[in-house]
Amino acid sequence: MPNNVSDLLLGGDAAARLVQQIFVPDVTLARIRCEACDGVTGIGALTVYAAPMGAVLTCPDCDNVLIRVVDTPHGLWLEMSGARNVRFPAPVSN
Ligand SMILES: [Zn+2]
Repeated sequence: MPNNVSDLLLGGDAAARLVQQIFVPDVTLARIRCEACDGVTGIGALTVYAAPMGAVLTCPDCDNVLIRVVDTPHGLWLEMSGARNVRFPAPVSN
């Protein structure tokens, strides 16, 4: 058990490994919680407005913008400020 906050600090590599675990699972299995209405739905059930450079995905219950994805020459941008959280199911163990 850590004695203070500095005991919880990790290096950038450890943080990168943690975040990498989030992006490996199949995103279609993820459940997203809307910041505006607290509704929870599957990523595949979101309403999608597509444009040449990317897409906006909105909550099917209240139309709040949950995800913006923009593909530019400088990189792929993902903005999710409209989502409270995204839950990936635990891996199934055999
Ligand atoms: Zn909503």
